[in-house]
Amino acid sequence: MIRLISRRFYSSHPQSKLRNIGVIAHVDAGKTTVTERFLYLAGAIQNPGHVDKGTTVTDFLDIERERGSWKGGGASNQRSFSGITVQSAAVNLDWNGHRINLIDTPGHVDFRGLSSGAHLHHHFFKVEVERCVRVLDGIVVVIDGSAGVQPQTLTVWDQSSKFKLPAHFFINKLDKKEANFERSVDSIEQKLGVKAVKTVVPLDDGVLDVLKGRHLKMDGEWSHVATGTREYDALLEAKSDLCYSISDHSQNFMTMFLDENEGDPEKMSVEKIKEVLRELTISSKIATVSCGSAIRNLHCVQPILNSVVDFFPSPDLRNHEFQQVFHDDLSGLVFKITHDKRRGQLSYIRIYTGRLQNNSNVFNTSQMTSEGPLKVFTPYADELKSVDHVDQGNIAVVSGLENTVTGDTVMGSAASADRAFETLKSLDHSVDLLQTKTSHEGRSVVFSGIESPDAVFFCCIEPPSNRQQQQFNRALEELTQEDPSMKIRFDRDTGQTIVETQGELHLEAIKDRLKRNYKLDVFIGKLQVAYREMLTEELTHEARVEDGLSEKKRPEFVQLTLRLEPTKTHVPFKKIELDLPQTAKPTRLDWQKAINEGCSNALQNGPLASYPVHAVRVVITECIVSGGKINPALLSACAQKCVTEALAKGEMVLTEPVMSIQIDVRSDEPTQPILNELTRRRAQFEHSDAHSSTEYRRISATLPLSETENLSKTVRTLTSGFGDISVQFSGYQHVPDHEKNSILQRRMGGF
Ligand code: GDP
Ligand code: MG
Repeated sequence: MIRLISRRFYSSHPQSKLRNIGVIAHVDAGKTTVTERFLYLAGAIQNPGHVDKGTTVTDFLDIERERGSWKGGGASNQRSFSGITVQSAAVNLDWNGHRINLIDTPGHVDFRGLSSGAHLHHHFFKVEVERCVRVLDGIVVVIDGSAGVQPQTLTVWDQSSKFKLPAHFFINKLDKKEANFERSVDSIEQKLGVKAVKTVVPLDDGVLDVLKGRHLKMDGEWSHVATGTREYDALLEAKSDLCYSISDHSQNFMTMFLDENEGDPEKMSVEKIKEVLRELTISSKIATVSCGSAIRNLHCVQPILNSVVDFFPSPDLRNHEFQQVFHDDLSGLVFKITHDKRRGQLSYIRIYTGRLQNNSNVFNTSQMTSEGPLKVFTPYADELKSVDHVDQGNIAVVSGLENTVTGDTVMGSAASADRAFETLKSLDHSVDLLQTKTSHEGRSVVFSGIESPDAVFFCCIEPPSNRQQQQFNRALEELTQEDPSMKIRFDRDTGQTIVETQGELHLEAIKDRLKRNYKLDVFIGKLQVAYREMLTEELTHEARVEDGLSEKKRPEFVQLTLRLEPTKTHVPFKKIELDLPQTAKPTRLDWQKAINEGCSNALQNGPLASYPVHAVRVVITECIVSGGKINPALLSACAQKCVTEALAKGEMVLTEPVMSIQIDVRSDEPTQPILNELTRRRAQFEHSDAHSSTEYRRISATLPLSETENLSKTVRTLTSGFGDISVQFSGYQHVPDHEKNSILQRRMGGF
């Protein structure tokens, strides 16, 4: 059981003293252990929790905490969740006068025991990761020193490099006899293309902290290295190494080191070295590296915290461009949503500019709606503290955002959103990760960078009993809000509820949450590839419905003319567009909403095989109604009829999701068997050896999702276990005719 010793009240730190970081690692590399050590060293928890006993604070998801218990054998009865009110997605700690916000980054989800290959895993994981990495100002990467860089780390790294995040690497598990520090550092440089600069190196069975001139024995504490000792010689050598590494990236430093100080490391000031390391880290030119064994000696994680404070940027350093656009107006990004029994929906917001005040209203610029009043909290371990406000650079947790989904942008008001739009438009350059947005509801600015890729798998999902239908519906609605990458729709042919997901692991996580948080042991059908239907030509159709049940002499009617146009981007339908003559009255918002709903319903089930129709614009060109008062249900019914009829007469094609894959094979392994296997699976090869090195060769290809079954397992067999494979969604392609026929036949056979 964890107790919090310091129930400190929220104290505000100036932005320069804030660090927003995440920790990433391949499963089992030691992320949780390292994080617990952080909290303990910073005085935030009394005992460092033990993953193998299931007592850790930061295994934010119960699923992860339980996994620890399983491994601990009989330890499962030690689990106690009684004190836990909220699963926090962020914790904070104070270090050297700085506040470090540690944001949960799904560095991994355990997928052992699942039959799916790693490829499904990567796919699901990508969305989760991007959502969280987006709001960080730096990342700590924990690497298993006996394995080097592993596939999941590679994937997360690729995503974070999109956000140009400064990093620090910690090589863990040096106590294991297979561990190899130098090889692990090489794998960072080789596989991630990072210039790694060693600031803490192994010495005997301990480590040497070059910047602090101190030594840590495996079972001891830090001690100063005195001149004249054997450790001192090692220290000088490591410092010399460090100075040469830095010189590779800074001309000024090189001059100072080699010319002014004759290459003598003893003469180089540590302050100067740190100053340059900070510059180089912030500009992502290098990443510092430390090492140790988190489980054997908790003190070895200290240099990680020092690096975060000394070398990572404060939020204001990374946000000054946002400042130009928003000035002191509130702007923030909702990066995570959870539902808590007591407090209801909780939204985690990274505040980029301005101040979020308790009890205030905000404007959601992604949806163009006002929300509030909000209750504002700040996270601390598994607690939330009520606060008066949260300022720019920090993380706020709020309740009261009812319609917001993960990934939405919030601002102070519609007026400030409009102002930000003007400012961003007037700048002579674009701002990374910011986009303008115009709709008939107004103009705004949104933070981009969290894209939910299409859910590429689907299956039917049913509540355990009819009695629980209502609870089931609410649960699905809440989950979709937390995780917009899952979608719920209804299949007209079978009358079933369909959940669309990123893959087996994603589905497993959804199922698990339904069970844990809602006590719903749902039935789930077979996972299938989510084919789509696509219209190939533009067409216009007119439909009319009358209220047949009306007693009135002149029954209400609606007549709509809609134009359906194929779009280039293969995305699901969102909203209808208007193209009405000037003389026509602007259609009311609630009418549009009803028409939208009708179109959405029709497009959920295409004419070929009831797969959703994608890549289509729907434009209203005429809307005739019997009078000013019209039942919205009639509009909806008319729109649905019109779209359904239009699709039925249109030329449709079936499309399938395509994945892009990279396989890294050791250079001494033959690649032909893999190439043959991929060809058999309808792969198209891409020519790219950008990532190839002397040690690895990379094969890049795209292939249909339906052909990826057991791919990673097969690849591993073909490469005697050394092939690393990573898979991302790449887009859609037309299904060839012979494939199409067999798909349609299977489909008609039912689920
Ligand atoms: P995570 O999956 O990355 O969160 O890793 P955990 O912190 O849960 O650790 C995974 C396993 O590795 C656990 O059994 C830990 O006890 C073990 N472990 C963590 N750090 C070390 C270390 O420094 N040396 C060794 N030998 N084992 C470690
Ligand atoms: Mg863990």
